[in-house]
Amino acid sequence: MSESTLKQTASEKKPTHPSTRKPRGKVVIFANWCKGCRLCVEFCPTDVLAFGPNEFPYVANPDNCTACHWCDTHCPDLAIIVKPIEDESQG
Ligand code: SF4
Ligand code: SF4
Repeated sequence: MSESTLKQTASEKKPTHPSTRKPRGKVVIFANWCKGCRLCVEFCPTDVLAFGPNEFPYVANPDNCTACHWCDTHCPDLAIIVKPIEDESQG
């Protein structure tokens, strides 16, 4: 049996696991604390946040949040938090 066949056989026998949904979060912005620095909007990897006409962030695409916590760990004024949403499909 060749090496490539061995590798293929090993990968075919790899145990499968049920797919797991990414954790998601509910984003809350405390407008009174926010200074509008734009960090959270610019660096959210999934475009959850956007700037409104008043130059303050709002949650534009809540379903996109993966609860990565970039925004709430980098906000200089602690003006944003992300609460994990439990996966309702689990137990
Ligand atoms: S990082 Fe914090 S202070 Fe800056 S815009 Fe976002 S919520 Fe406001
Ligand atoms: S937790 Fe991550 S994905 Fe969710 S809003 Fe913050 S930066 Fe974006």
